[in-house]
Amino acid sequence: MIVTRFAPSPNGPLHLGHAYAAVVAHDLARARGGRFLLRIEDIDGERSRAELAGEFEADLGWLGLAWDGPTLHQSDRLAAYAQAAQRLKAMGLLYPCQCTRAEVAEAATQMGPDGPVYPGTCRHRRADPTGAAWRLDVAKALALTGPLSWTDELAGEQETRPGLLGDVVLLRKDAPASYHLAATLDDAADGITLVTRGADLFAASHVHRLLQALLGLPVPTWHHHGLLVEPDGKKLAKRRNAPSLADRRRAGQDGPALADALRAHRFPAGISLASSLHGEP
Ligand SMILES: [Zn+2]
Repeated sequence: MIVTRFAPSPNGPLHLGHAYAAVVAHDLARARGGRFLLRIEDIDGERSRAELAGEFEADLGWLGLAWDGPTLHQSDRLAAYAQAAQRLKAMGLLYPCQCTRAEVAEAATQMGPDGPVYPGTCRHRRADPTGAAWRLDVAKALALTGPLSWTDELAGEQETRPGLLGDVVLLRKDAPASYHLAATLDDAADGITLVTRGADLFAASHVHRLLQALLGLPVPTWHHHGLLVEPDGKKLAKRRNAPSLADRRRAGQDGPALADALRAHRFPAGISLASSLHGEP
């Protein structure tokens, strides 16, 4: 049976781009008689605001999107993240890194889909592990697993190229786990069979496929959907002035009608759907 999830971070209110992502995940599950789950990705330290989880539930209900089972919370799963990281450390695949964001930008010679690619400065340096971030030695990991592939429903079969993002951080300095580690472990634990998310995270799936192979996790199918963008081509961002879903809900707008408009790709003036960002499919 197909299982999808909508997995917002409670760092700010949901906006139209989130509503579109939720509609896609919900409808793919419902169209195939499957389950649709709600997971709150609330491990972003001080940026996570607990009260927003309730707002997100109200937003989904207002849109007419019912989810199955209880709302899941990443903050309940910290032990699983630590355990997986310990396993990868024991395999010799993680190394500590004390580089700051500015140092990475300074040392990088390549730009990746998410900005400057970490050039591996600390890979052989034995940086002080106290308070360090821990990065995955991607080349060493891929040598261990051998070539891998994964399938996106829209873009087809992909040869796994985790090097696109460099040696990614799995344990952050300021949070219990990075998005890559937490989302991969949670999707496996929650039994997600179809990972839906925006095309801006396409490159991340190469890393997630590698983590699945290293940790012996089941491999889902992916569905990277288009993103709602503003006239300048930039992704709708939480920090910009667009009304949030909660604003629309409180103003008495018709939630199911909005969900239907998003399904039909009828967007408010100035907003359009970009099928890809960063040149990825
Ligand atoms: Zn470093």
